[in-house]
Amino acid sequence: RARIGIIGGGQLGRMSAVAAARLGYEVHILSDSEASPASETAARLTVGSYDDPTSLEEFARSCDVITFEFENISAAGLKHLASFCPVRPSGHILEISQDRIAEKKMLGTHGLPVAPWKEVASPDDLKALPSFGFPCILKTTRFGYDGKGQFRLPDEAAFQDLLQRADSLPYPLVAEQHIDFAREISVMVVRGLDGTVRCFDVAENHHRQGILRVSVAPAPIMPELAQKAQALAATLAEKLDLVGIMGVELFEGTDGSLLVNEIAPRPHNSGHWTMNACLVDQFEMHIRAVAGLSLPPARRHSDAYMHNLIGPDDMALLPEILREENASIHLYGKEEARPGRKMGHVNRIFPRGGLPGDMVLSHYQPELDS
Ligand code: ATP
Ligand code: MG
Ligand code: MG
Repeated sequence: RARIGIIGGGQLGRMSAVAAARLGYEVHILSDSEASPASETAARLTVGSYDDPTSLEEFARSCDVITFEFENISAAGLKHLASFCPVRPSGHILEISQDRIAEKKMLGTHGLPVAPWKEVASPDDLKALPSFGFPCILKTTRFGYDGKGQFRLPDEAAFQDLLQRADSLPYPLVAEQHIDFAREISVMVVRGLDGTVRCFDVAENHHRQGILRVSVAPAPIMPELAQKAQALAATLAEKLDLVGIMGVELFEGTDGSLLVNEIAPRPHNSGHWTMNACLVDQFEMHIRAVAGLSLPPARRHSDAYMHNLIGPDDMALLPEILREENASIHLYGKEEARPGRKMGHVNRIFPRGGLPGDMVLSHYQPELDS
């Protein structure tokens, strides 16, 4: 049996491993912890560091192809592994996605629109920020997720406050103009070894305290806008020579314009709805691409409302959710439901066009987007 190696032990690895096992592959997981969500789904588990060249190399020798579910691994290490076995997506793509500045430059090079931005490499750059303008958001260039490592600067006063601790900030940072978007949307795009590109339908995403809370598919947007978002994601997949799946996060402006927020070359939380609303979901598509299999159209047979189960409060709702008719529950096998921790998700599934109106949109906005 062919062996697929997955670097990372989180829920994305767990769900990818299940998809790979279903396709008949032997799954090897490299995780930094014995008791991670992906561990119990692996035929073989290697516990080791994501940065240590020897443990990466040893892992690569036990696999026929390697992918990753986690972005904070050494891109240099991953590139090196390519001399032992194919790595999909490539270490090069990972390297770009790990660095917001490299990411924005790449997007600009390919003519894709991003929010106006400026590199803030030092306290002196920070002092010059008023010329860039407010409101803006300062983000760490590396290791940020779930909105961690962000500083919101609504106005000059907030900026003056931040200046007090200018010397202790984690440079380099990137300043982005605050976008007054109508909606956040995302596209999951997958590209096969033969160059076939497939895009899942566009999802609308809502966050709470920086963490994805709800994804609704299809996003209730004009078909032209959805096509534009998918075309943009497909272009990116081709320009990057992607093999595997990638999440593309976008902002829809109030005037119907699109800006790319960031990319994630891996399965993505905003694509979990595909698990119950598509015949072939994001994880199977990803594994098919990584394994060099053909990619069927990314067809959606149902409407979906994906709700993350975050922390103890959401886990307390489980008995109630279990009694729902349309809810498919996916738990990640995590022991401790700490606040803010993604424990699982629920896909509420409806016939096409049958998503209840109050689930569609702005109804949830006040509660969610805070
Ligand atoms: P993720 O968990 O998606 O990787 P992250 O920490 O990488 O999150 P971003 O996706 O860049 O961070 O930002 C998190 C959220 O903050 C976005 O989904 C959006 O709601 C908001 N946000 C980010 N950048 C901007 C911006 N320029 N203007 C307005 N809102 C923004
Ligand atoms: Mg991110
Ligand atoms: Mg994001």
